[in-house]
Amino acid sequence: MLDSLDIWPPGPGQPLVSQQPDAELISILKQIDTNRMRATVEKLVSFGTRHTLSNQTDPVRGIGAARDWIAAEMRTYAAASNGRMVVTVPSYVQQVSSRIPNATVISNIVATLTGSKEPNRVYVISGHYDSRVTDILNFEADSPGADDDASGVAISMELARVMATHQPAATIMFAAVAGEEQGLFGSNFMATTLKQNGVDVQGMLDNDIVGSPKADDGTIDQFDIRMFVSGLPASNTANQNLQLASIGGENDSPAHQLARFVAEVAQNAVTQMNGKHIFHPIFDGKRNVNEPPQKNFD
Ligand SMILES: [Zn+2]
Repeated sequence: MLDSLDIWPPGPGQPLVSQQPDAELISILKQIDTNRMRATVEKLVSFGTRHTLSNQTDPVRGIGAARDWIAAEMRTYAAASNGRMVVTVPSYVQQVSSRIPNATVISNIVATLTGSKEPNRVYVISGHYDSRVTDILNFEADSPGADDDASGVAISMELARVMATHQPAATIMFAAVAGEEQGLFGSNFMATTLKQNGVDVQGMLDNDIVGSPKADDGTIDQFDIRMFVSGLPASNTANQNLQLASIGGENDSPAHQLARFVAEVAQNAVTQMNGKHIFHPIFDGKRNVNEPPQKNFD
């Protein structure tokens, strides 16, 4: 798996070695239905546009139709959770700003699966369901947004569906947010609400532009995930940052550590994903990425 160990310097510390998934995780991964995820993306595309400023009451076209469909789908998943998953559609009115010409209702869809052992420990998974064309204020043109970001929403939804029948120790919120293209409004609203309510969010994984493995230069790489992690916490004081810098701790922020953990658990034969370039997603030419993935479990 880590075939570049020879370049790892001697001394203290160990390179990350992927964890092998346990039986429950393998069963969860096997329940992920890629055909269903594709159907979710196509359904979201079928609303024509999901621009944040588009129609919110038309049952066929616009962001309102998409919002209602996502919420209805999530509720069918929650029905299988024995009451442990609850779906809400929190919303607020965003006042005029540079990309919001008129006061606009911004609605998120959130399926919250309460943890079985530590319900106050919370993780958030999100994608944005709004879309746009090049002209950021054009809310009428067709704007399919299949990989930006219906695919990220499909991840939130598919994980909600599968996890509804499992009992994770901590609480997980599966979210589809709006207003991203206009200025991260939906996710900002969600973060602010969580903070105001004193919720202990230990981590958040946002998925944007998923399932788009072809680079501008034509390179296709479907085995690497590119992760973007925040650096030093914004709440740090200047003194705290100085102390961290003096010991090289600027690379060990909580977000960096979470990303390392993701790399450690994600790269294995079951997921078929390759985590070794997760911080430096450079194609190394060692694997013929045009070959279809080998299915090595049933
Ligand atoms: Zn996006």
